[in-house]
Amino acid sequence: MNPEILEEYTRIEKLRLRSHGSSIWKFEQISTVTHDSKSFPLWKITCGSDESDASTLILVGGVHGLERIGSQLCISLLEKYFELSQWDVVLQNQLKQLRIVFIPMVNPIGIYRHTRSNGAGVDLMRNAPIVSTEKKTAFLIGGHQISKHLPWYMGEQPMQPEAQFLVDTVEMEVSRSRAVISLDIHSGFGLRDQIWFPWAFSKKPFFRLDLMQVLTDMFESLYPHHIYKIEPQSKVYCTHGDLWDYLLHDRVKSSRFLPLTLELGSWLWVKKNPVQIFNLNGLFNPIKQHRMKRIFRRHQLLIDFLTRFLVFMETDDFKKMDLNAYHQKGLGTWYNGNN
Ligand SMILES: [Zn+2]
Repeated sequence: MNPEILEEYTRIEKLRLRSHGSSIWKFEQISTVTHDSKSFPLWKITCGSDESDASTLILVGGVHGLERIGSQLCISLLEKYFELSQWDVVLQNQLKQLRIVFIPMVNPIGIYRHTRSNGAGVDLMRNAPIVSTEKKTAFLIGGHQISKHLPWYMGEQPMQPEAQFLVDTVEMEVSRSRAVISLDIHSGFGLRDQIWFPWAFSKKPFFRLDLMQVLTDMFESLYPHHIYKIEPQSKVYCTHGDLWDYLLHDRVKSSRFLPLTLELGSWLWVKKNPVQIFNLNGLFNPIKQHRMKRIFRRHQLLIDFLTRFLVFMETDDFKKMDLNAYHQKGLGTWYNGNN
């Protein structure tokens, strides 16, 4: 391995060295991908009990190499939890009921080459064997088979190794955990930070709309002025080949799995600093240092909320909730009341 290739690897390596002898942390290099005779490890880092059926929060970054801020945010969260786990008794107790899994660099070759796609020119988030049921997906952006030289290229089957790595890792966690929420961090769309939930392939409501409405109501009563726009991805655009759709719809089909996507609204960074439009990285990543720091801070509330919500899902108070009423409410919130 050559961890010196990317700053992200150096940061992971520092923590890995410090984690020796820890009963809380596990650093696993699940596989590697190679490019230009350089090898890039695919890391899975687990915090909390590795044996139990504890509920699991999965934080994912770097599916699209150009959206490097997603990887960096994921690694910042990893560093923060690492430091806290050294002394914070509240977190240490929480980790008896909860696992946090970090998959911070799904597409390291894309990060290295400053491309959205992986080394083979494939957009990993269009690479799963699932086809949109909507007649109209967004042209090109919804996924296509025209050419690997155009963005959003779906590639062929079987899936690319990076996509397979993500699907296998998440599937394993869903199979052993009481409940799983995943948050896949991207950037590059819109003025606001958005939280998307399934589906991307269909405009129909997904089967845990009740859970999504409960989560949204609780988050909004806790943080009435929160920054996110929360909606199904299909309200923004529909795509083929979404890995989270594939996992939830075709692989795990579990009602205990809620895959979320965090889209950091990068157009705002461009609006505040228009010069960065001339820099390809600048379209997807904040360039000014103070803006980076603010991004790393502002999402902590959401992550903290998700860890607490996962534990709440196991309580009698949650089980007593009228979930059907929440499903109906969700139809009104996001689908104009339609099924
Ligand atoms: Zn993305």
